[in-house]
Amino acid sequence: MAVTGWHRPTWVEIDCAAIQANIQNEQAHLPDDVALFAVVKADAYGHGMLEVAKTAKKAGAKGFCVAILDEALALREAGFDDFILVMGAVPQSFARLAAEKQIALTVFDLDWLTGLELLPVNLDVHVKVDTGMGRLGLRSMEAVREIEAEIVKREDVTLDGIFTHFATADQLETSYFEKQLACFREVVASMVTRPTWVHCANSATALLHDQVDFDAVRFGISMYGLTPSPEIIPVLPFELRPALSWYTEMVQVKELFPGDCVSYGATYEANEREWVATLPVGYADGFIRAYSGFEVSVDGVLMPVIGRVCMDQCIIKLPHKYSVGTKVTLIGSPNSADVAARHLNTINYEVTCLISERVPKKYI
Ligand SMILES: *Cc1c(COP(=O)(O)O)cnc(C)c1O
Repeated sequence: MAVTGWHRPTWVEIDCAAIQANIQNEQAHLPDDVALFAVVKADAYGHGMLEVAKTAKKAGAKGFCVAILDEALALREAGFDDFILVMGAVPQSFARLAAEKQIALTVFDLDWLTGLELLPVNLDVHVKVDTGMGRLGLRSMEAVREIEAEIVKREDVTLDGIFTHFATADQLETSYFEKQLACFREVVASMVTRPTWVHCANSATALLHDQVDFDAVRFGISMYGLTPSPEIIPVLPFELRPALSWYTEMVQVKELFPGDCVSYGATYEANEREWVATLPVGYADGFIRAYSGFEVSVDGVLMPVIGRVCMDQCIIKLPHKYSVGTKVTLIGSPNSADVAARHLNTINYEVTCLISERVPKKYI
C-alpha cells in the first residue's frame, strides 16, 4: 500500500474547471458527431484517475481509454458504466474478465485472437493498426482482413473499432503524419464492414487535424491543459488551461554564512550571507534529483533549488528572509510543467506522471 502524506504540507491541486473547459473547448472544435474519449491512463497522467474520470464525464466525454486492464477494472469498480478501451496488450487469459466487465480490448495480432478460449460473454475488440508508430499493431491490410474474417467466425467477439496512433502528430512538419493517415484510411476502406468506432487522434491530432472521417478522438495530455509539444503552441486552436499545480511550504528558514554548504555532497556553498528554506518534498515524491537548479516560486518570484535534492526534502535559495509556512509553488505559473520539462530535459507528460502517490491531491 502506498502511503499518502495528508499530514505534511506538500500537495497537488487539480482544477476540475480547467479540465472541463479543455474538454468543452475541444468538443466545440470537433464535428458534432465525433466523440471524445478521455485518456485517463497512468492515474490520469498523475492527476488522479477517478476524479478526472468523473470530471471528464460531466464535461461530456463519451468513454475512457486506459493503458492496462487494471485501470479499466478500477473504473468499473468505481461505478463507471461507460465505454472503456484498454489500448495496451492484455494477456489472453484475462480476456474473459474484460468481457464480463464489458471492457473493450485491443487486438494487434492474429495469434492473440486465434488462441483465445471460447468466451461465455461477448468481448468487444478494437483492432490496432501499426501505420508507422512501430509499436503495437497489425502492419498490413491483409492482416486486418484476416482478423476480420476470424472475428466473423467467432460468436463471442465483436469488432467494435479500429484505430491507429501517430508518431509525429505533435510536429509542425506533417509528411510522416500524412503517410500514416493515408495508410490508415486505406486500411479502413479495405474492411468488409466498417466498425462503430474508427479513431486515430491523440491530443495533437485532435487539436491540429480535421476529424470529419472519424468517430472519436483519444484526448489525453491536452485534457489536462498541457500542450503535446512546445512547437505547436503557436497553432493551437484554443488556449489550454493547465489543471495541475504542485505546492509545498517552507518548514525551516535559515541564514547561511560564506563557506556554509547545503545537502548531500556539500555541492552548494554559500559565497555570502544568504537565506535558504528547507522544503518537505524530494525525489520520492517525484521531485527528482534533476530538479536541482530548477526555479520554484513564491507569489511569482522565482527561487532556485540548491544542492542535491534528497529523498524527502530539498533546499531553495531565498532572495530575502521568509517566514516558516510560506507557500511555495513547485509546478504552476510561472514555473509551469513545460518549464520543468525543459529543465529536466523531458516532456510535460513525464513531469506530471512522476508525481508519486505520496503527494495528496486536492480537487477544486
Ligand atoms: C496515451 C495515448 C493517447 C493519448 O495521447 P495524448 O498525446 O496524451 O493525447 C492516445 N492514443 C494512444 C494509443 C495512447 O497510448
